[in-house]
Amino acid sequence: MTAKPRRKFWGWGHVGQGYTDADMLPFEAEFAEAFGTDGFSADPFPKAENITLAAPRLAIPDSLKDVCTHDHWERLVHTYGQSFHEQVRRMAGDFAGAPDVVAFPRNEQDVADLLDWCARNDAAAIPFGGGSSVVGGVHPDVGDRFKATVSIDMARMDQVLEVDPVSLAARIQAGVYGPHLEAQLKPHGLTMRYYPQSFEFSTLGGWLATRGGGHFATGWTHIDDQTESIRAVTPAGTHDSFRLPGSGAGPSQDRLFLGSEGSLGIITEAWMKLVKRPTFRNNAAVHFQSYWDGVQAVRAISQSGLNPANVRLLDHNECKYSGTGDGSTAVLILGFESADHPMDAWMARAMECALDHKGFLPDESKAAQDDPRAGAAGRWREAFIKGGYLREMLTARGIIKETFETSTTWDRFESFYTAVHDATREAVERETGKGAAVACRFTHVYPDGPAPYFTFIGQGQRGRMREQYDAVKNAASDAIIKHHGTITHHHAVGRDHMPWYEQQRSAVFAGALAGAKKAVDPAGIMNPGVLLPPQR
Ligand SMILES: Cc1cc2nc3c(=O)[nH]c(=O)nc-3n(C[C@H](O)[C@H](O)[C@H](O)COP(=O)(O)OP(=O)(O)OC[C@H]3O[C@@H](n4cnc5c(N)ncnc54)[C@H](O)[C@@H]3O)c2cc1C
Repeated sequence: MTAKPRRKFWGWGHVGQGYTDADMLPFEAEFAEAFGTDGFSADPFPKAENITLAAPRLAIPDSLKDVCTHDHWERLVHTYGQSFHEQVRRMAGDFAGAPDVVAFPRNEQDVADLLDWCARNDAAAIPFGGGSSVVGGVHPDVGDRFKATVSIDMARMDQVLEVDPVSLAARIQAGVYGPHLEAQLKPHGLTMRYYPQSFEFSTLGGWLATRGGGHFATGWTHIDDQTESIRAVTPAGTHDSFRLPGSGAGPSQDRLFLGSEGSLGIITEAWMKLVKRPTFRNNAAVHFQSYWDGVQAVRAISQSGLNPANVRLLDHNECKYSGTGDGSTAVLILGFESADHPMDAWMARAMECALDHKGFLPDESKAAQDDPRAGAAGRWREAFIKGGYLREMLTARGIIKETFETSTTWDRFESFYTAVHDATREAVERETGKGAAVACRFTHVYPDGPAPYFTFIGQGQRGRMREQYDAVKNAASDAIIKHHGTITHHHAVGRDHMPWYEQQRSAVFAGALAGAKKAVDPAGIMNPGVLLPPQR
């Protein structure tokens, strides 16, 4: 029997997966040129046997011994998500704030028993899906307000329980990871077609709890659009809703849990809308000399009612640093798909919109048309899929590379992009004293505005990287709020975005949310510090 692969506690994926030092040579050459430096040296990854954790403050009772552990490796894995701060801390062997206990519930009764146990023992309960949060959503360091912390990992609740082939929906347990979910739907000829970049190591419960955004660039974009009903266990009892295609019965019950980020309860299962597996596909990569022409083309397509599955505009730097192109053009990756009818007419009309705005197809694009794995679209896809594995390798080399995402309306977009881009670039240059790269792509596009996703890259100084990162992140986030963007389009609030989320929401709403939390989590044990200041 082959051993179950273990999650890395120092980075993304399973032990043995990811880039090698040799794979990193082209990246090093590219960044050395961008920063004007000679090269990079890599710090070693931490070793479990060299890390000492504080002794667990909570004993596991016999009644929960089959679902709880003090295992050293599991406590390391569950200390952090995937934010920049967390990566720098784990590289330094700093695992302060590790959970005292890691729990793996098998069913809803286990979840209810765990929350009850946490409340009785004054322990904070931190729901954990795949741990792919990039906003400090799963880090259990809640200070000394609690006597202990318990990370509740949903991975054992990973089944598709029912499929409704008539309405095209399925009842699915929250702990299922993307690949296992799709593997269970495949025999039914159905798919959720929800592909966040973190697909491999994130779960349905995490997607719902963060209101994540998946594969579709238009139409169904946020996971909310695909949700029929949700079941969640809270310290005050179990929430369940009817499965409905839509409802106008008062404020949506499910909306309370969509985006609740573990602060109200634990989502255990949901009925999710599915689609038939697509059989008709059209793809194209259109180039633009001017980024702003590309923006106008995307606006025209987004307002045409064509609803492409993919309409991702990559600016010049995004093309260069993702390896999609040489940086001399902006590129629009366009894709249509259907299980029902050919999409040639849709693609033809979208191409007209693109060509009307000075888009053009170089020979390579013409040759690669209709094959999403070829040409510029293929190179972008490859970089996208492997993106998660790059972070640990770059951080080890003292390179700061981070992303943030937002959305704003078309009427503001030009000034918004310029302000956010410039604030970010200036901050990287100021903090690093070297060249900086800032890149942008659209992850989602609506008729009234795009969701731009920025990447910044700079050379860090070992020992100061978190400070440097904060200066850049603060500058970018301040510019976003000042120019009327959202602090997050799909990465969630977590602990890291709280200062800007508090500026973005109204005081009335904050009070209503605090009231809801008090009703479902009277002792305030659920993921304290996320969405609301700790209420104790
Ligand atoms: C490389 C990379 C790429 C990414 N790409 C995308 C992307 O394309 N789109 C996108 O939307 N996000 C993306 N993210 C962010 C992240 O993957 C999403 O936020 C994802 O939805 C989190 O899912 P998870 O299962 O890993 O949840 P976790 O990270 O484990 O948890 C996230 C939050 O949800 C809570 N939570 C988890 N499970 C439950 C549950 N069952 N009930 C209640 N609360 C729960 C946690 O307490 C935490 O607050 C990316 C992250 C990485 C590292």
